[in-house]
Amino acid sequence: MIHLVGIGENVETMVLDELAASLARALRESCHVHPDPIDPGFAYDPVRNQYHATAILRRLTSVATDGIRILGVASMDLYVPIFTFVFGEAQVSGPCALISQFRLRQDYYGLPPDPKLTNERLLKEALHELGHTRGLRHCQDWSCPMAASTSIERLDVKNTEYCLPCWRRVMGVT
Ligand SMILES: [Zn+2]
Ligand SMILES: [Zn+2]
Repeated sequence: MIHLVGIGENVETMVLDELAASLARALRESCHVHPDPIDPGFAYDPVRNQYHATAILRRLTSVATDGIRILGVASMDLYVPIFTFVFGEAQVSGPCALISQFRLRQDYYGLPPDPKLTNERLLKEALHELGHTRGLRHCQDWSCPMAASTSIERLDVKNTEYCLPCWRRVMGVT
């Protein structure tokens, strides 16, 4: 069971619902959307004007219960101290993952909004971070969602399905 929770305002319920449906199909696992978003104020860094991903993950862990994985979907820009930004972060083999739609929206790049593209990018990013919670490391196949991505271009060349070896690992099929 995966629980999706909005982090910050402005994460549309429709976006969460669609992501939950896509994830349920891809991972063959039930996905549930939490009605109340989490206020990320505690993780805000005023100097960077960004939110500390690890701090938010820690908060998600404190509400995680047995057998449930939590995916936070943030509206704000995320960082970890060694990078200028992150699309998301996850606990390897842990219960929690976090993604941000901030840099997945076309308007961030000065382009006209494209909600369909944003949703597709969110799905790829969710599959990536949830793969980490299943213990997966980065994949060398650039078209696999588990490939490392530090730019939107690298994200866009990925498929919305795992490569076969990653899929087997996610499903626990050996
Ligand atoms: Zn990764
Ligand atoms: Zn792969």
